[in-house]
Amino acid sequence: MRLVFASNNAHKLEEIRAIMPAGIEVLSLHDIGFEQEIEETGLTLAENSKIKAETVYHWLSDNGYSTVDGVFADDTGLEIDALGGEPGVFTARWYRLNDGMSAAAPLNDERMIFAANRAKTLRELSGKTNRGAQFKTVITLIRMAQNLTVQVEGVVRGRIATEEYGQGGFGYDPIFIPEGYDKTFGELPADLKNSISHRARAMEALVKIL
Ligand code: IMP
Repeated sequence: MRLVFASNNAHKLEEIRAIMPAGIEVLSLHDIGFEQEIEETGLTLAENSKIKAETVYHWLSDNGYSTVDGVFADDTGLEIDALGGEPGVFTARWYRLNDGMSAAAPLNDERMIFAANRAKTLRELSGKTNRGAQFKTVITLIRMAQNLTVQVEGVVRGRIATEEYGQGGFGYDPIFIPEGYDKTFGELPADLKNSISHRARAMEALVKIL
């Protein structure tokens, strides 16, 4: 089986490929020659995940791609208890929604965006004892033959550390401590993250319906 993963995020792609069972080939957008930026205009993770999968599905159909079985997309959010579930759908560029001031200037460098997002999270939770949070991933799968859309979800509970620990993973990993552990995803080995994470759980649900 061959599936296209509708994302340009190299970190997600690496995790997805590590998690996907042998026998299911995952193609990136780069692999299929899709070079557009997909605007995430949805108000929920489910909507954004669907927008990404549908955009690539239509592109594949328009370009007469007959060698793939389906397309799937992941949309992920960090939901912080003390902030009423924020940043949620705004997780990717949360640093721009700034503390009641005018929006911070957009950054181009991915590592700087990740660092700015983590810094904002630590600032927002400064002095707060309730540090509970969760990552949620919604995956949308569209099967080419039937044009059938299915959504699955994965959640990992945890808490936000008081400072950054570890260099592994990406995004908010150095400040997220999954439940049952005392280290952040940035410190824990990649194969452990890939067995318990939000994405791993959503992928587990996806694999069951493939
Ligand atoms: P999106 O699903 O591409 O909109 O990703 C939202 C943002 O969530 C990313 O830019 C990362 O900052 C963050 N993110 C997504 N998945 C993870 C993860 O597994 N660990 C840490 N941060 C993540």
